[in-house]
This record gives sequence, C-alpha cells and structure tokens, in this order.
Amino acid sequence: MSERKLLMIPGPINFEPSVLRVMSTTTPSHVSPTFIRLFGEALQDLKKIFCTNSAQPFVIAGSGTLAMEMAVVNLVEPGDNVLVVSTGYFGERYAEILKRHNVKVDELKYAWGEAAKPEVIKEKLEDKNYKIVTVTHVDTSTGVANDVESIGDIVKDFETLYIVDGVCATAAMPERMDEWGIDVILTASQKAIGVPPGLALLAFSQRALRVYEKRKIKVDNYFMDIGNWLPVLKAYETGQAAYFATPPINLVFALHQSLRLIVEEGIENRFRRSKIIGQAVRSAIKTLGLTIVPRKPKYAADTLTAVHYPNNVNDLDFRKTMADKQGVVVAGGLGKLKEKIFRIGHMGPIAANDVVATVSAIEKTLLVLGYPCKLGEGVASAQKILQEL
Ligand code: PMP
Repeated sequence: MSERKLLMIPGPINFEPSVLRVMSTTTPSHVSPTFIRLFGEALQDLKKIFCTNSAQPFVIAGSGTLAMEMAVVNLVEPGDNVLVVSTGYFGERYAEILKRHNVKVDELKYAWGEAAKPEVIKEKLEDKNYKIVTVTHVDTSTGVANDVESIGDIVKDFETLYIVDGVCATAAMPERMDEWGIDVILTASQKAIGVPPGLALLAFSQRALRVYEKRKIKVDNYFMDIGNWLPVLKAYETGQAAYFATPPINLVFALHQSLRLIVEEGIENRFRRSKIIGQAVRSAIKTLGLTIVPRKPKYAADTLTAVHYPNNVNDLDFRKTMADKQGVVVAGGLGKLKEKIFRIGHMGPIAANDVVATVSAIEKTLLVLGYPCKLGEGVASAQKILQEL
C-alpha cells in the first residue's frame, strides 16, 4: 500500500518541504551567531503573526497544552477567580488545567456547536471580579470559532486579563492582539504556523507582564516561569545569547523558515486564503447534503470543518476507506462527538487542489459506503469558490 497520504487533519498539517529540510541542518550551538540571528528574526516575525508591536513572544519546547498551562500559571495566584468560556473539548481542558492551580474556576459552558455570546460574558464580568477570562478561538472539537474581537471589546472595560487559546486559529484567522486587547495568545507549532509538533508559542502583553511582576507568590512551576525565560528571549531579540534551558534548535530553524513563508505571502493574504478555503470546503459539504457541527454558518472556523456523519456511515469504515483507498487522512471526533463526526483540517500552506482532492475523496468514499451522492457535485461547488484564490 502506498505510503503517500494527503494529511487533512486539524494538526499536524502537511508541512512545506523547505520547513522540513531546515530541520535536518546540522545542529549548531544555541549560542552560535547563526542560531542567535535566526531565533531573533523568528521572534520578530511572531509579533507580525500575533499583530502586536508591544507584546513579548515566547518560544518554548512543548505542545499546545503546555502553552495553555504556561499562560495561566504565570498569572494566577491561589484563590483568584477565573472565568473559562468553554465551547468544546479544549475549553473543558482549560478548566481542568486551572483546577490544578488552586483557583476558583467558573465555567461558562456552551453546547458543542454553539459559539460564546459576548453579551453573556459581559454580564459575568459585571457580576464578579475575574482576574482572567480564557476563550478558545477555535475549538478543534467542533470547528466553531468564537468572536474574539467582540469579546475583546467587552473585556477591555474590565481589569480582567484576556487569554486566547489560538492553537487552532493563529496564523490562519486574525488575532489582532494590540487592537483587540488580548493579554495572552497561546498557540502551538503544528497547525497553521506550519512547523512539526514540539513548540509552544505565546505572547504576553505589557499589561500581563505587569501582573506577573506584581505576584506575591512565586510561580509554582520552575520550567514554565516566564521570569526564567524573559531575559533569554530579550537577549535573542537583541542579537545576544542567553541560557535558561536548551532551546529546541532545529525546531526553531523550522519556525524561522515557516514564518518567513507566511510573512512573504503576507499575513492578511494568508487570512484571506484561509477564509476562501474554509468557504469552499463548507460549500462542498452542504452540496453533498451533509451538515456541519457549528449551528450557524457565521460560527464556522476557517481552519477546520467538523461534519456529522450521515445515517449508516460508520466512522472507522469512512476514515479507513478515505485513507487506504483515496489516500486522504481526515480526523474523527473528539470527546462526546467521537464516532459521530469527521473533521477536515484545512490550514497552513494548503493548496486549492488539496481541497479538490479531499472533497473528491469524500464523495467517492460516501458512495462506496452506500450514501447516495453524485460524483463531482461537491467538487464543482468547491471549485466555484476556489476561483477567488
Ligand atoms: N487547544 C486547542 C484549540 C487545540 O486544538 C489543541 C490541540 N488540538 C490544544 C489546545 C492542545 O494542543 P496540543 O495537542 O499541542 O497539546
């Protein structure tokens, strides 16, 4: 069986060959001039991705979950009130993480498929003093995108710090940190950033850094304490080296290369491309008579599409046929949507023809599994939208 597969899951994604190539560079010292320069440039480019001039980026070995935890452990102290806006599996994970840190967690929970209502968040913030509110930009379990901008407009009027989990959105959907008043954005390398798994990426606003500086109690985790990392990142940004813990050098090379590609394309162009691709996928799915998990079209994320299985189509059969016969790998559901949905990831350096191939594979697979659809109909409706690229 061929090993060639088109990976269309919501992370890890298909990586650019040039990004993979730089990972096989001979590893230099972390204080070598080459590494200092590339790390410094990557930190500058990261600010462009987060649409910020003033926030402090962090690049740490780890995954998105580490980034989630790192964002909060530096800002909470025992007894603080935190509001977790939960629109799926990763919102629930945020609450779990926070509960380990001796804080009072209120969860504003929405049914999976719904997006958070900014006016309800406002009421919550008026009712109680929250030190932090966390929002998942795109919950990867549902494909729902929250309106991070409108929520930011509300949080701006309160003392509350605004943390956005951008793992499934950053670099594909706008997250204008300065303009929208976001205090911490956290993300991971393996999705729209376009770098193999292994990097936790964050940016802290100056306001968040001040809250950190005023802590009464030390951060209860040594590795994640931003106080240990700040001098290191500031050094690399100014062309010097510093050491706290050995950086993942080859992954930083990959980050540098991928961010260069994104900046070359233009971050606004990338946002536009993601939007068109998302619309094309959803249009094809609708044409095939399938429904998506987001309950309103305006909730749908540009980075992935979560689709309900039609009656009598079995999850394992579907994904196995897709992968083995059509060479396209899509993801199953998470948590309570396991076996009920499949998820198509479409972020990063994705081409129009990757969408066409995926939709075509879905049509053929559904047909083989007994779902009545006409070959080519979904593809045609996707193509119509992909013309805009
Ligand atoms: N948040 C979101 C929205 C995610 O999609 C994921 C991973 N799919 C995570 C957090 C956790 O990231 P990781 O798996 O890299 O730990």
